[in-house]
Amino acid sequence: MIQLYIPLNFLGVIYREIKQSLTDLDKMFVLMEKEREVRDGADAKPLAQPDGTVHFEDVSFAYEPDRPILQHVSFEIPAGKTVAVVGPSGSGKSTLARLLYRFYDVQDGRITIGGEDIRTVTQASLRQAIGIVPQDTVLFNDTIEYNIAYGRPGATREQVEAAAQAARIHGFIAATPKGYATTVGERGLKLSGGEKQRVAIARTLLKNPPIVIFDEATSALDSANERAIQAELKSAAQNKTTLVIAHRLSTVVDAHEILVLESGVVVERGTHVDLLARQGRYAQMWTLQKVEAAPVVL
Ligand code: ADP
Ligand code: MG
Repeated sequence: MIQLYIPLNFLGVIYREIKQSLTDLDKMFVLMEKEREVRDGADAKPLAQPDGTVHFEDVSFAYEPDRPILQHVSFEIPAGKTVAVVGPSGSGKSTLARLLYRFYDVQDGRITIGGEDIRTVTQASLRQAIGIVPQDTVLFNDTIEYNIAYGRPGATREQVEAAAQAARIHGFIAATPKGYATTVGERGLKLSGGEKQRVAIARTLLKNPPIVIFDEATSALDSANERAIQAELKSAAQNKTTLVIAHRLSTVVDAHEILVLESGVVVERGTHVDLLARQGRYAQMWTLQKVEAAPVVL
């Protein structure tokens, strides 16, 4: 009967606390699930050559046993070069990113960095070497500063601000009453998809890792911000081993190699010029996007 004496507003607080811990628990279980799927081997060692060549060797993968997602995918990102992946939604592009970050292990073939199978190295060293700007960024229920500095513990405020400037999110942060101390997420400031994406870009710029993955990194941004940030991303990828998953083909023209993925299979590959000359799927997509991007004359 003691419940009867608990003031209603207190119940409200408890309810919110429980709801909050539930969402955090949800997230934690999702993370634990991933942890359970991949474990460090007993003799796992730190990645020896974080700045080495990334190699997908005949990789096949399925989330569920009877539904193959990637089938015999092979490509190499020479150290310091960029490989781009394009293709329809659902073709398995983000899955490539998740496998390189080792959220899951491949079922067939292997992924190596500097010749080392990523299943044999510690996850901590692997994730230290890779910066990822995912399609949907989940931020920590903590300050904006924490969320940006996360990739580089011990970063100074100046470094955090410089990264935020480059990712075009500094002005937005500075305009909030608590600035960089503003809490984001459930209990604080709600950020739009584009703002979250810019926080993730700032985090990656600050982390400055040898390998970067951009998974449709600017897809949630309006075109003005996208154009502004594109130059920053380009310089962030300079001399880094880069996997770019692109929704806009204009961002892949300079790539060392472009892969066209369809239903988990690489159906075309080559440089922008090669692929245009081939007049296949890529050339079709390119023509289609050019038409869409052309200014409308009224
Ligand atoms: P893309 O990035 O090219 O749009 P994804 O790599 O995200 O494609 O997904 C490829 C396929 O795998 C899709 O059919 C998607 O529904 C499926 N898929 C993605 N994540 C999961 C998951 N966690 N469990 C089961 N299927 C998944
Ligand atoms: Mg995707």
